[in-house]
Amino acid sequence: MSAATQYVVRDGIAVITLDNPPVNGLSNAVRTGILHHLKAADADPAVKAVVITGSSKAFCGGADIREFNAPRLKPDLPEVNEQQDGMKKPLVAAIGGFALGGGLELALACHYRVAAPKAQLGLPEVKLGILPGSGGTQRLPRVIPMAEAVKMMTTGNPIPSEKAKELGLVDDIVSGDLVESAIQFAKTKVGKPLSRIRDAKAKLEEDAAPFFARVREQVAKESKGYPAPLLIVECAEAAVKRPFEEGRRLERANFDKLVSGSESKALRHMFFAERQTSKIPDVPEDTPVREVNSAAVVGAGTMGGGIAMSFANAGIPVTIVDATPEALERGLGNIRKNYSATVAKGRLAQADMDKRMGLVRGSTSLGDVANADIVIEAVFERMDVKQELFRKLDAMVKKGAILATNTSTLDVDQIAAATKRAGDVVGTHFFSPANVMRLLEVVRGRETAKDVLATTMKLGKRLKKLPVVSGVCDGFIGNRMLEKYTQQAYFLLDEGASPQQVDGALQRWGMAMGPFTMYDMAGNDIGWEIRKRRYRERPDFVYSRVADRVCERGRFGQKTGKGFYRYEAGSRTPIPDPEVDLLIEAYRVEIGVKPRQISDEEIVQRCMYALANEGARILEEGIALRASDIDMVYLTGYGFPPYRGGPMFYADSVGLPKVLDAMRGFQKGYQGAQWKPAPLLVRLAEAGKRFNE
Ligand code: NAD
Repeated sequence: MSAATQYVVRDGIAVITLDNPPVNGLSNAVRTGILHHLKAADADPAVKAVVITGSSKAFCGGADIREFNAPRLKPDLPEVNEQQDGMKKPLVAAIGGFALGGGLELALACHYRVAAPKAQLGLPEVKLGILPGSGGTQRLPRVIPMAEAVKMMTTGNPIPSEKAKELGLVDDIVSGDLVESAIQFAKTKVGKPLSRIRDAKAKLEEDAAPFFARVREQVAKESKGYPAPLLIVECAEAAVKRPFEEGRRLERANFDKLVSGSESKALRHMFFAERQTSKIPDVPEDTPVREVNSAAVVGAGTMGGGIAMSFANAGIPVTIVDATPEALERGLGNIRKNYSATVAKGRLAQADMDKRMGLVRGSTSLGDVANADIVIEAVFERMDVKQELFRKLDAMVKKGAILATNTSTLDVDQIAAATKRAGDVVGTHFFSPANVMRLLEVVRGRETAKDVLATTMKLGKRLKKLPVVSGVCDGFIGNRMLEKYTQQAYFLLDEGASPQQVDGALQRWGMAMGPFTMYDMAGNDIGWEIRKRRYRERPDFVYSRVADRVCERGRFGQKTGKGFYRYEAGSRTPIPDPEVDLLIEAYRVEIGVKPRQISDEEIVQRCMYALANEGARILEEGIALRASDIDMVYLTGYGFPPYRGGPMFYADSVGLPKVLDAMRGFQKGYQGAQWKPAPLLVRLAEAGKRFNE
């Protein structure tokens, strides 16, 4: 049969092996193979029982989600399950590594399951916005207690085989040779009456109505507007109240609804997008990397402290250097305070904190970075300061070390030019707080060596970040786009909206935080400094001066208790402030704009299309490698809602011609000259294409 599965008969036991690396996904060839072998085993009088297995690393990782975007290919998994249901011989799943999604559904349709120690069993479909579509919602609660089944299906988190054994999902845990043990297990079942999970009653020991009312309330609270978790609960309830076949039909209908819904499409996009980020066309995955066993961070401020923590969290010793003992002590104190807060919340053991603190060494002598494998600079955002530092580092750091800059706006090539080893220089743009935020923009300079880029990408993953490659430009991918978004947010104030209306519209749409809340948190003075520079360097870039007016009154945000909102002492909750309304009104008079009513829809369109349009330029200029990288930047660094898939995916799902039309409309409105549709966007819209093909 196909190469994706193998079939042997040993000692009267047929062994069907899935062979589809790396995860034994249930491709069409695998499904076809299993079905064929099951039929052969059932028909062969010499076969007394059947074992289905994968490798010791992976029993089966489930469906190939690429297939969800295409018409369903036969045989599908339900058809394989039907054949399993009809078997007249004992069927044993031998689970090594993991059985996830469709993989666990395959195992659930066997009569027995044996597993290797620590194998992971789970139904993670919910994480892609769907549900187990091949009997999982009906079989799982018939084999383990309903509350546990609902938890597994609505969180998507797997359980280890030891727990699975306790719950009754696994019949035996076998150490040693998995297949051999499964064969021995199968032999003990030959001739015994066969029981199928589908014929059992769901395991619910209490009244269904109050149980499901409770579960629904809980799940609704946790599902954050995603439809899948509640539809899973509906299926689980059917497992109690309806016959198996009816429950299956409901499950299938709910699956179809979810798979064609926008939330799941966005989550599936994100799943692939994340895996794409590590692919760099001219830097193959097997590019040799440099060893990174020690690190140094220069600058113990907001960012330096968080970056040093990321290294310590990953078990990499890190030296942190600041210019003065006071600055260093403040930095180390912040690190200590941060860890202590996590310990106090019970999320980190004191011993682990001690271990991590033990990996952080403070110094005021730059010479102490000389032996580090990577040095990350996080000093003041000034070219002269950075160049001076890089000159010094060049003179003292060992050969082969990577020199990285955390600059957010400066030209990495100019910084590299201060050294005689521009090939070793790269940008590592962390996001604040650096120990928490997942996004890491890895900035590839003109001269950055391929192995330096590959090493930095790999290191990013070790630091539990999502590294995304960006070319050199002002603001890189994320902040360059954000400027256009913010520009629109400020224009909206000019025209009649309030900060709370703009924030509210975008937050209801799904953003974790509106722009004004965000700027108050980050500090309005940072943007002000950048704008002052832009007024000189980029006269073409028009800003509303409304934010300057706010800054001129010392309203820098949370840190001064006042910004676009006001804050009560010790609180981070933004409170609308009539003083700000007056200030905005006065500015409107100053510029001669009569305020108008602005709809939430217009707010969202202007802010989102501004992002997508600048994204298109970034793509066209080759700053980003692909549209999905841009989406990942926004999903992991800017609080973009996963169910919208990122700004480029969102524009795709609205339809680029519609996006372009709206932009042309905005061109006729206030500050319309600032809307210049990107040539790539125009081309794609006219050709009926998408950013994410
Ligand atoms: P910060 O002012 O909090 O910290 C800078 C630290 O560097 C200070 O402790 C200062 O004493 C020290 N320093 C200055 N010159 C030095 C030198 N020559 N040698 C040793 N130490 C020196 O600044 P920050 O917010 O941590 O920003 C640092 C860098 O990170 C900047 O380039 C900034 O643009 C970038 N960045 C900041 C953020 C953010 O949200 N704050 C986000 C991403 C990137």
